[in-house]
Amino acid sequence: MSVLGIFGGTFDPVHFGHLRLAEEALDALRLDEVRWIPAGQPALRDTPQVTGAQRLAMIQLAVAGNDRFSVDSAEIDAARPSFTVPTLERLRADEKVGCERSLVLLLGADAYARLTDWHRWPALFELAHLAIAHRPGYTIDAADLPAALADRHRQRFATDPRVLHSAPAGAVVLVPMEPLAISATRIRALFLNDNSPRYLLPDSVIAYIQAHRLYTKDSSL
Ligand code: ATP
Repeated sequence: MSVLGIFGGTFDPVHFGHLRLAEEALDALRLDEVRWIPAGQPALRDTPQVTGAQRLAMIQLAVAGNDRFSVDSAEIDAARPSFTVPTLERLRADEKVGCERSLVLLLGADAYARLTDWHRWPALFELAHLAIAHRPGYTIDAADLPAALADRHRQRFATDPRVLHSAPAGAVVLVPMEPLAISATRIRALFLNDNSPRYLLPDSVIAYIQAHRLYTKDSSL
């Protein structure tokens, strides 16, 4: 069964934490591809000077040359806030994906811990598998998750990623990722304070941010 990884996020900006998560998931979970789906623009954003089109452009620069990555711009093009369940329903309705293909939603541990805040979150398990990556500062223990999520976690957790290849949705697995304490929040703060963000994100993305004067004091006025 062919397995499609789905990687959603704000990516404001994309960084090496995201890139390593996707790359390590491809190998460890034997995914055929990871499709990056940057979220659309909420009405009120923390960084209003950065448009959806610019977040998309930075992802395109970051993934250039990796033929196992693709980028889906539909949520950015829609120019409204995105919700993951409707995004997955859109993919399932696409005849190239359909209902039989295995979908694996990639998530960091922080996002997983907050899953019960998501719009129609229980439907996620009907639409995709979930693959959770460790992130420094967060745990993935059922004991630390909200009760409704902990129940599902215990029922669905699988240690063998081959389950992703035998059913289209419904399991929870781990991405055995080398932890990287990198966040977009910290990168934005480095730019804002004129400190170097090098080695936290690709040079091509840094050059784009500098050329467009993103995340600077001027642009956040
Ligand atoms: P911010 O600091 O603005 O909240 P972020 O760095 O968490 O941003 P997002 O775009 O919100 O980046 O993250 C997209 C997805 O990538 C989420 O599922 C998040 O948990 C995951 N992720 C981001 N950074 C890491 C990291 N360093 N390690 C593991 N997962 C990560």
